[in-house]
Amino acid sequence: MHREGHYGTTLLVGAGCVLGLGIVTGMIATAVMMMYARIPDQDQYIPESIISHRGPTHSIVFTLTLAFISASTITYPFHFGQQLAVEHNLITTVLIVPSTVWAFFAGVVAISLFTHIITDTLTKGGGFRVKPLWPVSSWGPALGLCTADDERWNAALLASGVTAFVATILHELYYSVLPSFAGF
Ligand SMILES: [Zn+2]
Repeated sequence: MHREGHYGTTLLVGAGCVLGLGIVTGMIATAVMMMYARIPDQDQYIPESIISHRGPTHSIVFTLTLAFISASTITYPFHFGQQLAVEHNLITTVLIVPSTVWAFFAGVVAISLFTHIITDTLTKGGGFRVKPLWPVSSWGPALGLCTADDERWNAALLASGVTAFVATILHELYYSVLPSFAGF
């Protein structure tokens, strides 16, 4: 799928995150997922003889590895920043424990990449089917609903994602955030 389609399905999942995690955490999760949404397709810039498109970067192994590395990379500087803030009296105590930060980022990155793989399985795939079980199996699921460059599908996915995300934000603002301010 093209950029619009991937952003669309990511926003659909992001809407679920806002509902499940609340507006602030859900929006942070969505922002991280949007940053990772197209990472698997960066394989197009690597020579086909080294890594084939929709091959290793569209697999469970790659997804879990990138989630592990990303979470491990962000957790230390995040915790270091918190400790600095405590030392300088900007906050009174560590707000989020490192294991929670790690689990959050690992989960969000993994969900983002799994969403990418699932979105690509909507397409016909042609010679470029996703390989979720790489390197164990070359099984390539493809639902064949459209081609990756189908403008209508990409536009529809993006429109659905934006609509769902905006509606969820408005819903949360109206039912969760506003009442706490207005004392309803
Ligand atoms: Zn892809």
